[in-house]
Amino acid sequence: MIVAKFGGTSVGDAEAIGRTAAIVRGRLDRQPVVVTSALAGTTNRLIELAQAAAKGDLIVALTVIEELRARHLATIDALGVGDDAELVTDTGALFDELAHLAEALSVLGDVTARSLDAVSAMGERLSAPIVAAALARIGVPAVFVDARKVMATTDDHGRAEPRADEIAVACRTHVLPLVRAGKVPVLGGYIGATAAGVTTTLGRGGSDYSASIFGAAMDAEAIEIWTDVDGMLTADPRVVPQARLIEHIRFDEAAELASFGAKVLHPSTIAPAVRKGIPVFIFNSRNAAGRGTKITFDAPRLPVRAIAGKSKTVVVRVRSPRMLAAPGTMRAIFEVFERNRTSVDVVATSEVSVSVTLDDVQHLDAVVAQLSAYGDVAVERGRGIVALVGAGLGESTVTMARALTALGDLRLHMVSLSATGINLTLIVDDAVVHEAMRRLHAAFFEEAA
Ligand code: ASP
Ligand code: MG
Repeated sequence: MIVAKFGGTSVGDAEAIGRTAAIVRGRLDRQPVVVTSALAGTTNRLIELAQAAAKGDLIVALTVIEELRARHLATIDALGVGDDAELVTDTGALFDELAHLAEALSVLGDVTARSLDAVSAMGERLSAPIVAAALARIGVPAVFVDARKVMATTDDHGRAEPRADEIAVACRTHVLPLVRAGKVPVLGGYIGATAAGVTTTLGRGGSDYSASIFGAAMDAEAIEIWTDVDGMLTADPRVVPQARLIEHIRFDEAAELASFGAKVLHPSTIAPAVRKGIPVFIFNSRNAAGRGTKITFDAPRLPVRAIAGKSKTVVVRVRSPRMLAAPGTMRAIFEVFERNRTSVDVVATSEVSVSVTLDDVQHLDAVVAQLSAYGDVAVERGRGIVALVGAGLGESTVTMARALTALGDLRLHMVSLSATGINLTLIVDDAVVHEAMRRLHAAFFEEAA
């Protein structure tokens, strides 16, 4: 059994849903459980309309509801399932429920996290039955299952946490019997319910998390995340046109890349599955023949799996010939960042100085003022980060030399090799981040080894 999750762009309109249905039909031998997002853009519109209603703009909210209603009904028609009376009635009923929610919000003049969940869960409550109908239409024995019966969560609205034990029981009751009977269950991602049956959501982009939680609960053989890109690449293709598909990546490497803004998926959302040894694949629903990227805990350790980069970094340096050597000074310095809720990214120290990089400079003035107690503080703006990411980096004797050679005359402001040896981080001038990424990519991925 596999869990196949389709993101918003994979169910964005009838054409996309048609492609998705064909992909599922091609995988029936693997016993797929389908998890779907809302139609692309729907969740944003739902949140907007909830806020408009609460501000008293009920007309605006109702206009958005009508727009969404028209879009969903048009999709149902274009899929050729408009004669499914139950689907059309149920869809209409959901929009009536949504309109009532909007009216209630406009009366209350306030939107609580709980009522926002009730509204924003509508996208997946609407999409899952439509996807199930589209599958049935092409001969797949699909069955819609209300995800709220399965995804048991805490009552932390807007960021509810799954309750693994209850979910495992619910999967055995509501999902696995269908799989065993040769059916294809279709559930909405992102949504769940508390023990009292109140609708919750897992947080934006939560459908990947749903897929991973369901996959872990049912010991799936694999989890497939179907999106609109071919997978994870060796570099951002907008910067490095020669970037190539990564066919197999380790979970810790993927997490490292995500911290550099790789937006394909957030690794923390797939951690529950990967931890159980279930491989997670990223596939492109517009290019179903592609090989995709496989994420596991134990891909072979390569010195360099990918090149990452990040602009607009600020370096803060504290220099003090005497104080830094004193026990406790480091702790005191890092407490300044903590007190000011500023997270530190890269750190390098010497006997007389400590240098850190920050992405978030909201509280920089306060940080600098408080750090002055420990030495001379210098702030360098206009820096950028380039990094080599690879689990085998720390063990490689030639990689670092090769990286520094590739960078040639580009000036380095800081260098840091993570303790786990998974990334080599180089601070350069912001203006040369892209050039540095291209040079490193050329050295590690474009030259014959
Ligand atoms: N529809 C939800 C969102 O847009 C969940 C998801 O697509 O993953 O945040
Ligand atoms: Mg979405």
